[in-house]
Amino acid sequence: MNEHSTTAFKPATTSADHEAARISVARGDGIGPEIMDASLRVLEAAGAKLDIEEVELGEKLFHAGHSAGIAPEGWDSLRRTRVVFKAPITTPQGGGVKSLNVTLRKSFGLFANVRPCVAYAPAVATRHPGMDVVIVRENEEDLYAGIEHRQTDEVVQCLKLITRPGCERIVRYAFEYARANSRRKVTCMAKDNIMKLTDGLFRRVFDEIGAEYPEIEKEYMIVDIGAARLADSPEHFDVVVTPNLYGDILSDIAAQITGSVGLGASANIGTECAMFEAIHGSAPDIAGQGIANPSGLLLAGVMMLVHLGQGDVARRVHNAWLRTIEDGVHTGDIADPERTRRKVGTTEFADAVIERLGQEPRHLPPVDYADHAAVPVLQAQKRKPQQRELVGMDVFACHAGAVEPLVELLKQGDSEALELLMVTNRGVKVWPGGLPETFCTDHWRCRFQPRDGGKVDPAALIALLGRLHEAGVDLIKTENLYTFDGEPGYSLGQGQ
Ligand code: NAD
Repeated sequence: MNEHSTTAFKPATTSADHEAARISVARGDGIGPEIMDASLRVLEAAGAKLDIEEVELGEKLFHAGHSAGIAPEGWDSLRRTRVVFKAPITTPQGGGVKSLNVTLRKSFGLFANVRPCVAYAPAVATRHPGMDVVIVRENEEDLYAGIEHRQTDEVVQCLKLITRPGCERIVRYAFEYARANSRRKVTCMAKDNIMKLTDGLFRRVFDEIGAEYPEIEKEYMIVDIGAARLADSPEHFDVVVTPNLYGDILSDIAAQITGSVGLGASANIGTECAMFEAIHGSAPDIAGQGIANPSGLLLAGVMMLVHLGQGDVARRVHNAWLRTIEDGVHTGDIADPERTRRKVGTTEFADAVIERLGQEPRHLPPVDYADHAAVPVLQAQKRKPQQRELVGMDVFACHAGAVEPLVELLKQGDSEALELLMVTNRGVKVWPGGLPETFCTDHWRCRFQPRDGGKVDPAALIALLGRLHEAGVDLIKTENLYTFDGEPGYSLGQGQ
């Protein structure tokens, strides 16, 4: 492990006399200011040492013409403190507006989204008592790179980018998180049976890195069955690590089935910065009424304190909060006649938590972060590049109609160096062979390789494109075919 460099936030020690940690606080929109006020009061009463810079993010700035809801002063503050405690913001509807969360995530390289999904039975009604799952979602890659193209009249595409360093960072973070939090198992979910290169890489990295954590149980599930099992028997799971899109969906399923989505918190972790927030939005429908539940944001504050190395304060806050909801002191959103003894507003709820600082829950399991180190954020390992050889090209063509006339044109591209070996439509091989029943759209992948295999000179590819253009093929894009240490770095066509 020592070949990995650790980038953390120089978290303070867990001793009683922390130095104050500098953080940026964004009070957000809607219920944001109310729940931030309540949360900060609890954190400070518990002894959190925070040196706060207020930062404006959200609606006002969108309206002032900042397309991502953040002004230059905001960026300055975030770059100075590198830790953001953020209340929800309202995203205006309509064009010209960018998601602030996506902007922050991408700008600061917040590669890990960590969402604990916990059921609080018997204090809060749930169909899954005992559920305690943490979803660790990769946050930067996958289909979220935002590289999309319309290529033909009928076909649009979105590029799914998965990188080895990206996989290594998130998978290692999941194992480090499990280790720091005494979790017993990490489950990886992906779909490598279909996406053998992209999701296959994610799974391979999981297997490789998992071997470095012998004390932690490893499990792999295809994401479809994994999602079904998560929804049905969440108690089976502990930490789940997954690429971006699956993680987006899984973390919402997991939060929902706890029975208390309004209590959910999340952390966005990067090598340089981190952001902590509730998972709910700005609830404009109840803003200003003093009835919002501050719990999601408060629990995000607990995650932040652990991250800052103030685990003892985090433990006091979290246990007092558990005791409060267990005592039946509830805001309206989780109130129910069977469990609620006192229905309260935002301020009284915070007061009730403050009154219980130093106490532990009696029925729910108490938490203990006192000995926790902040989860180290490790960089991907530097590795020797594999031997890459150019062995052909997939030429994508736009063509409306049957495959045979297209093949007539494509064959005019054949030369000594390269031959048309295969044509697929939506990944299904339609030439040579093919079934008349296969539905074909106007987007064809045409594979050119030397018939007897072997290396290709890049000039031969350029010459091929010239011949195809001359023949009248409507070229829309190309992908080079490479082998890496002799292994093909491209998918083969499906079909007979
Ligand atoms: P929402 O989560 O704000 O509200 C959904 C429902 O849950 C509402 O009925 C609301 O009253 C209730 N609710 C939410 N939080 C609550 C709390 N703490 N206590 C009590 N009740 C609560 O979702 P929405 O209405 O779809 O979104 C409102 C705005 O929030 C939108 O502009 C959206 O873009 C934004 N949003 C921001 C974030 C963020 O900043 N991270 C996340 C999600 C949505």
